[in-house]
Amino acid sequence: MSYDPNNIFAKIIRGEAPCVKVYEDEHTFVMMDIMPQAEGHTLVLTKEPAEMIYDLSPEAAAACIQTTQRVAKAVRKALQPDGMMIAQFNGAAGGQTVFHVHFHILPRSNDTKMKPHAREMVDPATLQPLAERIRAALDEV
Ligand code: 5GP
Repeated sequence: MSYDPNNIFAKIIRGEAPCVKVYEDEHTFVMMDIMPQAEGHTLVLTKEPAEMIYDLSPEAAAACIQTTQRVAKAVRKALQPDGMMIAQFNGAAGGQTVFHVHFHILPRSNDTKMKPHAREMVDPATLQPLAERIRAALDEV
């Protein structure tokens, strides 16, 4: 399968579809997951037109992991979860549902089970306060 420039994440990065945005720089774009598996589920998107991890340039891969680390620190500071899961899926068999490279930042709790992947959409308004808290923490990490 070749990269589809009209996939939903490409549209969001271009500002053609809505999202609850957290942060953006030259190489990466960060937003709240619209079907969160846990409170604070955040996605780090590359700005490169890359479908899977194999397609990323070394520079884009480096930028993705640097942003992922920084945002994970901010999510930890803002929400103080018991743990943090970082995930990245490749190909439908690998669990990928949106074919544009992205990393999941998933806060985990000792006593709350993670919700199923990409299943239950929430009202974006409920994600705004979380995005604001993560954005504020980004300035401190
Ligand atoms: P994947 O399965 O490709 O690793 O993950 C795609 C993720 O994107 C899922 O967690 C899903 O909930 C999320 N997602 C799918 N469509 C949208 C959307 O339009 N906006 C946002 N913010 N997240 C989305």
